Amino acid sequence: MENLQKSNELTDIQLHETEAPQVQNIPMESPLVICDNLVKIYKTDEVEVMALQGLELEIKRGEIISIIGKSGSGKSTLMNIIGGLERQTAGKIVVDGKNLAELSERQMVHYRKKKIGFVWQKASRNLYFYLTAIENIEVAMNFTKMSAKAKRDKAMKLLQLVDMAHKRDSYPAQMSGGEQQRIAIAVALANDPDILLADEPTGAVDSKTSGVIQDLFRTLNRETGITIIIVTHDVSLANKVDRVVMISDGKISTEKVMKAQIRAQIESVAEIEIDDDSHEEYSIMDKAHRVQLSEDMLRAAGINSNKVKISVVDGKILISGEDGNS
Ligand code: ADP
Ligand code: MG
Repeated sequence: MENLQKSNELTDIQLHETEAPQVQNIPMESPLVICDNLVKIYKTDEVEVMALQGLELEIKRGEIISIIGKSGSGKSTLMNIIGGLERQTAGKIVVDGKNLAELSERQMVHYRKKKIGFVWQKASRNLYFYLTAIENIEVAMNFTKMSAKAKRDKAMKLLQLVDMAHKRDSYPAQMSGGEQQRIAIAVALANDPDILLADEPTGAVDSKTSGVIQDLFRTLNRETGITIIIVTHDVSLANKVDRVVMISDGKISTEKVMKAQIRAQIESVAEIEIDDDSHEEYSIMDKAHRVQLSEDMLRAAGINSNKVKISVVDGKILISGEDGNS
């Protein structure tokens, strides 16, 4: 971000970089986010929950991706780690070439404010209800050294970007859920973050409004190039983005990548029907060459024991049940 050099908070990072010069330059096309074997364990009084179990994920600069998965599968945990709100138990997370584990608490605060924009499901977590729309956006810029006038101008631009200029002086309570989320997106963009993280941003609005908000994310991504990661329950919405990754049991299990010709159509035509055929589905193989099979696949193949036979047939790998069936 443009103010990095001026900030005292980053001195430690800069020192660190001078002391230990990087062996190789990071090429521009290297992923913006690299999750390498991420593990997160929550310890409560008696139990330990392994929320992330060696998660691998790379996100390119300028990508828009959806993350789907059952409740409790680790989606919010992953978002919190990418957003610098929590630290992993093991494994590595690198964002924009920086290993987040090496950031001090103060640097982490700076990282969250400058690099990341958050949009949460609950409006009360996104917005101050005693401030108007425009004031909410201005307050988000408070820690920067902008003049009041510059803040106001920028807040106005952001309101226009999310198509809410007409509500600049309204309070959140005077807005619909969808309008509140638009303002929340403007707030999240206030400090020109590199990454917009949205954790079930449409979880509390009706499905038509969800569609409109999802389209807004896509437009923002296309027009500003910002990298966007959206956790969603709604699979039809999830499919509107370039890539959909599915988390199960704290790992990425499958990944659906939008077919190139569909993407080209989206670029040229505003409205296009997105369906299951729009994406190519892949399973993810981790570094130890493990692949997760879904319950549905096993059931369809009639495999019901934990022992399977694996063979290579005609250049394909075949997994069959103990009895050799399927
Ligand atoms: P999702 O967002 O996919 O619903 P989460 O990432 O919130 O899932 O949670 C993953 C697992 O970690 C769940 O079993 C959840 O109960 C547990 N968990 C999440 N946060 C905490 C926490 N702060 N303390 C203890 N357990 C947690
Ligand atoms: Mg969650």
